[in-house]
Amino acid sequence: MSTAIPTRPAGAAKPQAVVKDGSMLKQKEMISGNYARLESAVADGRKVVSTFVPGNLNELIMCFDVLNNLPEINAIQNGMRKKSGGYIMEAEKRGHSEDVCTYVKADLGMIEKGNLGPDGQKLPDPNLLLLSYTGCFTFMKWFELLRDRYNCETAMLHVPYQGDGQITQSMISYVVKQLREEVIPKMERVSGVKFDIDRLRENLARSARAEDDFVWVLNSARSKPSPIDAYFGGVYYIGPIFTAFRGTEDAVEYYQLLRAEIAERLANGQGPVTPNGDMGPERYRLVVEGPPNWTSFRDFWKMLYDDGAVVVASTYTKVGGIYDQGFRHAPAKPLESLAEYCLGCYTNRNMPSRIDLIERYMNEFEADGFLINSIKSCNSFSAGQLLMLREIERRTGKPAAFIESDLVDPRYFSPANIKNRLESYFQMIEQRRAGHAPARAA
Ligand code: SF4
Repeated sequence: MSTAIPTRPAGAAKPQAVVKDGSMLKQKEMISGNYARLESAVADGRKVVSTFVPGNLNELIMCFDVLNNLPEINAIQNGMRKKSGGYIMEAEKRGHSEDVCTYVKADLGMIEKGNLGPDGQKLPDPNLLLLSYTGCFTFMKWFELLRDRYNCETAMLHVPYQGDGQITQSMISYVVKQLREEVIPKMERVSGVKFDIDRLRENLARSARAEDDFVWVLNSARSKPSPIDAYFGGVYYIGPIFTAFRGTEDAVEYYQLLRAEIAERLANGQGPVTPNGDMGPERYRLVVEGPPNWTSFRDFWKMLYDDGAVVVASTYTKVGGIYDQGFRHAPAKPLESLAEYCLGCYTNRNMPSRIDLIERYMNEFEADGFLINSIKSCNSFSAGQLLMLREIERRTGKPAAFIESDLVDPRYFSPANIKNRLESYFQMIEQRRAGHAPARAA
């Protein structure tokens, strides 16, 4: 089996001439197939739903034979292809402020410039905007702008915020009621397809199988050395399950393949694969909070693996669903499990729950430190992160560091600054290991 990671998540930038693992080839095929279906949707008479990654209802969407377009994924792919900077400038020229989430501006700029998708082909207008509201207010404002533009049907699933850090039965019932009375009827109307709950159950059963293998892969990072990087590598692993494929046979096969590949690395005592091949010896095990920077993704990753730093757990790989704490989509309670899924998304969790989750990762994955990549334009993640940093340091006694960048705005990635901070952070971990307690690096 080969041991190289492609240079891009989700088919985004030009790959290096490397041999790809079977799972990578499979994912590439899946993503390009979905774009091809979207691009020929009008000609094929297919309807299109636009929706977001956190709280996505893929298994339900599939019941209506409609296609799934995810604006954040388009923004990420355009970021990796160095196209997002121009789109963001276009949106700012039209009055969107510098502080607005850059996924939104990359999407709006792309639409203004002809709505050409990451592979240069025109994307279809949506027939339905399906907003599953899982904690980020930006989602709502984003779809308000798209609704003004497309004047199409919209469905809003209001998911109560986990203010008390708990999911109650009344919260589940509230979401299920909206699925029954608001979302499903609208999807039937837009698609012309009658809802079939048995079809939903079959989709959910496939989701659960993929989720089992996905969790196995994430948990493989408990080993030393970790056979995966659970942040930079992790963004490839979340690709199918967080996008248009959860509930498909393709996703089941992808995670079977991936699991077999990682099992082989584990058995051989190998560390993660990087764009430059196998990582050298593992020196630092980190837990990372926050989304990655996409415009300089490879440079950012290199700053860590060059120093032997591997990410053993990350919160970003939970943004489209938290499965490693036991949740699975359940065919026996189809609508209830969709509700539980939405309620449990990372962006829908309060600060104490997020801190508890990170503390568990620090302990269970035997991390040496905690790193926050604070995203300038994502309030949903960034608010409260300094408090989080101090609390994790206090609870675990492990050093933490804070760096800042942005999602897809190339103006906000400062390589020299980030590299300096990381290097002083690694020195701090070394000093801590040697029994000293230096001041915080960043
Ligand atoms: S969670 Fe952050 S990145 Fe995602 S839409 Fe909200 S503000 Fe933007």
